[in-house]
Amino acid sequence: MSTPARRLPAPLLIAAGALLLAPAAGAATTTLSASGTTVARCHARLLAGAGVAQRSVPAAAATLVAARLTGGSGNWDLGIFDARGNTLGGAAAPGAEDLAQAPVREHGIVVVQACRRPGASPGVRLTTTTSALPGSRHRGLATSHPDKADVLRAAAARRRLAAAEPRGRRQTAVRLPSGRTGYRALPDYEADIAQLVAAHPHVARALVLDHRTLIGRPVVGIEIARDVQRGDGRPVLLITGVHHAREWPSGEIAMEWATDLVHALARRDAEVSALLDRARVIVVPVVNPDGFFLSRSVGGVFAAKRKNCRIADGQLPRPGQCESAANATRGVDVNRNYGGFWGGPGAALDPTDDTYRGAAPFSEPEAQNIRALVAGRQVTVALNLHTYGNLVLRPPSLANQAPPDAAQLKELGDAIAAPAGLTSERGYDLYDTTGAMEDWSYWATGGLAYTAELGSGATTDAGGLLAFHPPFAEVAATYPGLRRSFLRALAWTADPAHHAVISGRAPAGATVELSKAFTTTTSPVLGADGLAGAPLSFPERARSTVRIGASGRFAIHANPSTRPAAMGHPGRDPVGPTSGAVPIVSPGTTIAFAYQSDDASDAPATARFDVPFTIAAGDDDATATARITWADPRNDFDLQILRVHDDGSETLLTVSGQGDTTWEQTTIAADQFNDPLPPGRYIARVLDYASVDKAFSGEITFAGPQTAVPATPEAWTLTCRVGGRVAGTRQVRVERGQRVDAGAACG
Ligand SMILES: [Zn+2]
Repeated sequence: MSTPARRLPAPLLIAAGALLLAPAAGAATTTLSASGTTVARCHARLLAGAGVAQRSVPAAAATLVAARLTGGSGNWDLGIFDARGNTLGGAAAPGAEDLAQAPVREHGIVVVQACRRPGASPGVRLTTTTSALPGSRHRGLATSHPDKADVLRAAAARRRLAAAEPRGRRQTAVRLPSGRTGYRALPDYEADIAQLVAAHPHVARALVLDHRTLIGRPVVGIEIARDVQRGDGRPVLLITGVHHAREWPSGEIAMEWATDLVHALARRDAEVSALLDRARVIVVPVVNPDGFFLSRSVGGVFAAKRKNCRIADGQLPRPGQCESAANATRGVDVNRNYGGFWGGPGAALDPTDDTYRGAAPFSEPEAQNIRALVAGRQVTVALNLHTYGNLVLRPPSLANQAPPDAAQLKELGDAIAAPAGLTSERGYDLYDTTGAMEDWSYWATGGLAYTAELGSGATTDAGGLLAFHPPFAEVAATYPGLRRSFLRALAWTADPAHHAVISGRAPAGATVELSKAFTTTTSPVLGADGLAGAPLSFPERARSTVRIGASGRFAIHANPSTRPAAMGHPGRDPVGPTSGAVPIVSPGTTIAFAYQSDDASDAPATARFDVPFTIAAGDDDATATARITWADPRNDFDLQILRVHDDGSETLLTVSGQGDTTWEQTTIAADQFNDPLPPGRYIARVLDYASVDKAFSGEITFAGPQTAVPATPEAWTLTCRVGGRVAGTRQVRVERGQRVDAGAACG
């Protein structure tokens, strides 16, 4: 995108780089022991008495203190405090391997407090490290680098706001289920989950996901259902927050919903109890805790951090590396790293770009975590929460994809959007995306999956940060509407008419497993030149189990046995020839190109070079693609395709406006999947944003329709085990809305 805002002023970059030279300090390991145990919040205040051990650590100003527990068992938690007892950080994950980080602003003594929980080992090893943090005078560096996606989204939000109700309405204060009035920090999420589970063990249990983050944090979630420990086959509604570090409200709303459900079950609320008798809810409020910690608790240059802590492909970050100002823009966009359609449009190849897709599909532990969670459960509906835009986005995320469940995806998307006043639309209506959670989970499993962009983005500040995390009261005010939206999603999740059910008989004490091995294929993987290479394929396995109770019967609520990716797609045979390629040759230096503006429609005629082309009646072009390249990397051209109407007026159809490349490429496709482009006159328009030699070349090429691909039906494998030994295996085919009786599963 050729906006001046995306170009960082060079002096700022140099200043940020110089900060990297601050040395990282050393590490110290000690053994802590505590007699007795405590259930008090470990990061809330300095404690005295049973179950508490403390160590003092000297720390200079502008350092990051990290405390890591190892070698213990059971559950130990951490708090980090300044000498006056103010909380600086903490960790409250299940288990005895917590990692707490805390920014230290002033020189002095820091107290690390470890709390031994009931059932934990009396001793644990504590390792503390300190490393340099960037100074506060560089506050705002990262915020001057908005993503193209953010720019588009902000524009869309402004349009919606302009069309919405008049300004100045008084905001009524909303009391949240937790009673909170400010954003949680990372240990607050962990401690709140622990507290809900401890107080309500029959309806809530804590989850620790399979993979630790790159820094070494456990990633926690909470599972909520009536009789949550029952090993049955209820369908699951999954809600995830904070894939993107700066999108704090996505975690808050997820956590309030979890709190709300637990409290509702505890007071025997009729509606929630009925739904959570038939379904489960899993909430992972902070999918990307490493990034969230930096955005939420360190701030400054990290306030706008979106991505994770992958500094170099394939390598774990060294201590201090992720917290270095010079690396503030590095990291993988976790929500571009999922394997479904990975590597296609709408994700970046540059590790400093906000939408960097990562070195490979599922290269990042945060995406691997959600993949394993979805593959190990029967997640029939998933909501991936983000900020902002007041949207519910459903597959497809690219215009040329045709989801077989398009009607259901729209119906549920509309139903979720309405109570909260959100707009329901297809993902690509906002912008192209590949590698997002819902791209993989829907196409690989058949569970309906959405991105919800919460908040209007109407709160504006110079850096645009408040759009991602506005004042907390504004977030709280959205909760009542979102609660009704989530209840609709839960009702859909619980309704067997919307998924599939496999029932049968097996001896009490046996386990019945539903599994499937399959292959996921990525997009044709785009290279740095924008040209598509070969797609990648990788094996996957979905597997969930139920324990058979005294009744000797089971009913597993599942997604249909055939993945949407294996359901083929519509298409048709060509009805005419495709148009011939049209060359684009720059006119050379004789045209006085010169323009710099955010809005390409402002471009004066002197800054344009038009290549007219015609689609003749009878031609069958499904797409037209314009592409130009240039030799001098100092050049920056943008590229548009426009329709020319009979009266000579023009409509802009598509634009490609990157910076820092030597190519632009953009495609038009007909609105209806596989319809021919309408015949008539078009223009490929090259805009000179900032060129040195005015020299580019390329062509406009045309492609015919996709032909139809038939479905390849797939089956679930149902395996019955008694005492760990396989007693029966069978293949079961089941479609959406269908109920299949598998009979005696153990034979
Ligand atoms: Zn996001």
